[in-house]
Parts: sequence; structure tokens; C-alpha cells
Amino acid sequence: MKTLLLILTIIISETIMPQNYDFEQNLYQSYDRYKENSLTHRRFKHADIIPLIDKLKHKSGFTVKDVGKSVEGRELKLISIGHGKKKIFMWSQMHGDEPTATAALFDIFNFINDSANKEFCKVFFDRVTLYFLPMVNPDGAERFRRRNFYDIDLNRDASRLQCPEAVILKSVFDSLKADFGFNLHDQSHRYSVGNSFRTATISFLAPAFNYEKDINDIRGNAVKLIGNMYQSLSQFIPGHIAKYSDEYEPRAFGDNFQKWGTSTILIESGGWKDDPEKQFIRKINFIALLSAFKSIAEESYLNTSNDIYESIPFNDKYIFDMLLRNLTVKEGKKQIKVDIGINLDEYEGPNEKNIYYKSTVDDLGDLSTFYAYNDYDFEGYTIERASVYDDKVYSLKKLEELDFNKLYSKGYSTILVKELPDEKFTRLPINLALKNRIDTTINIGEPANFILKKDGKIEYVVINGFLQKVEKNRKFEGNGLIIR
Ligand SMILES: [Zn+2]
Repeated sequence: MKTLLLILTIIISETIMPQNYDFEQNLYQSYDRYKENSLTHRRFKHADIIPLIDKLKHKSGFTVKDVGKSVEGRELKLISIGHGKKKIFMWSQMHGDEPTATAALFDIFNFINDSANKEFCKVFFDRVTLYFLPMVNPDGAERFRRRNFYDIDLNRDASRLQCPEAVILKSVFDSLKADFGFNLHDQSHRYSVGNSFRTATISFLAPAFNYEKDINDIRGNAVKLIGNMYQSLSQFIPGHIAKYSDEYEPRAFGDNFQKWGTSTILIESGGWKDDPEKQFIRKINFIALLSAFKSIAEESYLNTSNDIYESIPFNDKYIFDMLLRNLTVKEGKKQIKVDIGINLDEYEGPNEKNIYYKSTVDDLGDLSTFYAYNDYDFEGYTIERASVYDDKVYSLKKLEELDFNKLYSKGYSTILVKELPDEKFTRLPINLALKNRIDTTINIGEPANFILKKDGKIEYVVINGFLQKVEKNRKFEGNGLIIR
């Protein structure tokens, strides 16, 4: 009898009140079951999420409400579920090119709809009601840019309310008077956790509601809840959690919502190595939000010390996309040692699945306090600007057949062509130009085209920020520039 009781207790406590760490571990292990498979990259559009939202209309417990239209007429939809007293409101992608959390919201809908979580949800929705407003800026998302159709940053329109999307967000907020609010964004993948060598994969903030950055009960609850989320996530991304700048911004939504009585939490999705489409960070968002909902339902955050939040390091900028360390630059008879920090910015090609990069030398000198996604020690190597091969001018049709390795081994990163293609970038492993006018010194702000020599022999080339070993049949994983 005793054993039976014990087993029953375990079963009940696991289905209704799972231990915190088991709950998050379970989400982590079973995530693939919930992942919304129709969203696979960051450039999905309003038209991709509307059918998913429409499907929810037929799922038990869900309510979907049209709450207004963007400047270009795209419908914003408020999704709600639950009948608990505690209201949780979350909105995503008010910046059009910040979609990571939007995708995670659809994973959460799948979690709620999965029969495996029926018991959990039953107890959960007796206590809380969830409200979701995904993709607040669909016109920006259409163009994968931060601002809305009027080129206004919606997160600076919370007070003046000139854009329909801002009016919608404010009026939904007013109609709900939620206990908790989640403001879901993406930040640069180049933020670091303080001056550590780690990327800020998730950054949290309990936004300030005044210039003094006071902590009242409303903001205090956000501070405590972040403490819980920090502990939950630290088992998956230890050392990769930071705090976003806490300067008060009177024009921003989060700061005002905190002032107007909702405990508001900013979640910023940053960077993670080998995750350019942020699908792992999306999974971390899924866990972060569900873990927070559970803390709110159980009120476990109330026992969390504010010290955890206070101890989280702020975002800093100590990360490059690529860092070439300890190179030697020869200037006449002099030799100097330099590290070179290179960043790659993303550009959309003719369609959103065609992404190209443009490189920039961001810094050079002693960069020993920095770190990079791709970090190389080139002690013993000398660096020189690569040059333009101008003995011959090629026709575009002939380019595929070129022996690029031979060109690299002679120090060339760029060739001349009779006419330039319409595009700004080429999939060829070399840059194309009409005439030779490329600077031969290494300067900040310029594209990264170099040769790296050891004992006088060229061993590597850098073509538009992509490092390539000079070796027969080596695949090039990048793109060249079309230099006009
Ligand atoms: Zn943002």
C-alpha cells in the first residue's frame, strides 16, 4: 500500500507539478516533437504564419481575434488560451528582422496542443491565461528589416502612437492589463556576455520605468522571474546569458508597459556558434517562455532573490565574426604584429533563400581581449593585401572553368571581367571587377581580401572575409564581391 501511494504521488507530482529542472530537461529532450516544421529559417513572412494561426481557431481552448491591420493591410491576430486569473501577454517581432521568438511561439502552440501535455495544461490553464500577439511588424518582416512601412521604429512610437501597429499593441495592452508581459526581440549576434569570451545567446531585461531605475513591486516581479529563467536556462547555455542595457527609454514599449503596471520582461535572442538561422536559440526561447509560465502559475518566482538578476553581466561588444591573431605585417624593413577583426554583414539576394555576405575589416591591432565565432592563431604568418589579376579580362561565361587555386597561389583575390553581372555578389570563389583600382594597404572599413604567407609561400587566402586554404579542389564556403 505504501509503495502504491508513493508511486501514485510520483505520478501525480510529475504530471501536475514536475520538478523545475526535470520540466526544462524534458522540454529540451522532447523539443523536436513540438517544433513547428513549416518555419525553418529566419525570413518567414506574414503569409507563412497566417495559416498556422487559422488552424488554431479549430483547436480546443484557443481563441483568435483580429485586432487591426498594419500600414500595408496585414492583419494582426491576438491568440489566447486559458481561464486562469493570472494574465500573461507576449508580443513578438515589432522589429521586422527579429523573428526568432515568433517561431518559438508556434512551437509553444504545438506543445499546448499535444495530447502528452493534456494533464499539465489542464492544471496550468486553471491558473493562467496566455495572450499572444505574434509578428507585430509584418510589413517590416516582409522586407526583413527593423522598421515598419513608414520607416519608423515601432519601439520608439509607444508614446506618440503614430503607426497602426503601435496603436494595436497599446490597445491590446490596455484591454488586457496583464500581470506579466514578454517583449520578444533579437539582438546582434556579436554581443558578448560582459568581457567574457562568450556570445550573449539570450539577454534579459526588466526595463526601467524611470531615469532613476527604481525597483517597485511591478518591476521587482520581472526581476525575480528573470532570476528563475536565468537558472533554468543556465543548464543549457551556461555563461551565455547577459543583461540588456537598462537605460530608461521613455519612447519604448517595454519601459512604458512596466510603468503602466505590467511586470515586463525583455528577451533578446543573440548569437550561438554554428546557428546562423538561430534554430537552437529558438528552442531556448521555447524553454525560457514555458519555464517562465510555470514559475508564474506556481508563483515560485516570488521566492527568488533579486541578486540573481543583479549578478547577470551586461551585454558588451567583444566579438567578431572572424579574428586572425598574431599576424606579421611587413612595412619596408619594419615588422609589426597585428590581430585583424573581420565582420560579415548579411544581404538578401534575388530571393530570401539566397543570402550573401559582405566583409569589413572592423578593427586591427592588439585584439587579445576579443573573441570570434571563427578564431585563428596565425603566429608565424605574414599578411598582405591580395591583388587584382589584370593580365587578362575574362568574359562571364568562361569564369566557371578557371583554376582558382592557381590564382590564389599567386596572390590574387580579384579578377577583371568584360562586364559586371547585375547582382552585388557572386557565388564564385573570387571577386569580380571592371578595372584594377584596389588599394594595396590593409585598412579599417574595407573588405577583407588578404594573402597569408608562411616562409614566403602563400598558404591561405581571405576572399571577402572567407578563409580559404590554398589547396587543390578545396570547396569555398562563401561568396565573392562584385566590385563596382
Ligand atoms: Zn528589437
